[in-house]
Amino acid sequence: MKYDILTVTRYAQNCSLLACEQTGAAAVIDPGGDIGLLLDWLEWQELRLETILVTHGHFDHCGAAADLAERTGARIEGPHIGDAAAVAGLAEAGEKFGLKARPYTPARWLEHGDVIAFGAQALEVLHCPGHCPGHVAYFHRAARQAFVGDILFRGAIGAWEHPGGSLPLLLDSIRNRLFPLGDDVRFVPGHGDESTFGRERVHNPFVGEEAMARWRERRAMPAPPADPAA
Ligand SMILES: [Zn+2]
Ligand SMILES: [Zn+2]
Repeated sequence: MKYDILTVTRYAQNCSLLACEQTGAAAVIDPGGDIGLLLDWLEWQELRLETILVTHGHFDHCGAAADLAERTGARIEGPHIGDAAAVAGLAEAGEKFGLKARPYTPARWLEHGDVIAFGAQALEVLHCPGHCPGHVAYFHRAARQAFVGDILFRGAIGAWEHPGGSLPLLLDSIRNRLFPLGDDVRFVPGHGDESTFGRERVHNPFVGEEAMARWRERRAMPAPPADPAA
């Protein structure tokens, strides 16, 4: 398995294009827009798109899934059914932010533990709520490579302060679903640079061990003396 990243829409969303070198089959993760670029890439690489995978129902990640499926005949899979309302409301959400987006009906909603096959490749599905109720991540175990959408970024975590977001669920997804996959696992986030789970597990300012240790240190410090002028 090899992959390329195309940055799509003006939200600079990382759309991943996965290729099975043995069979010429391809999978696209999060076609948020700019499908001309995606179609050119498929043609250039002489690949046959088998499946369109979606991490979550935000328009910058799946607004062009319906168009891409129509143009290629590929099936759409995901995300988890927890994002069904977001997927149904894609046109309205896109309009609000000035981006063309269309709702779709996936060939299947995904569950934690499902396995996606394309060509000779397998991707494991991890349900990771917190940014969205139906957010999923995809993991290629043999390649030690994950695609995590808006759950975790290099040096940051996903937003949770909107309807459907939850900080406790987000932290739980990162610590108990993503990090156990292994420090060596590389990941493509929904926006920005790639990283590894090991790097974020230690250095991430929101969920990393260094930040946690500093926080515990501060908690353990005695309260400052009272201000005599008060
Ligand atoms: Zn999002
Ligand atoms: Zn996003």
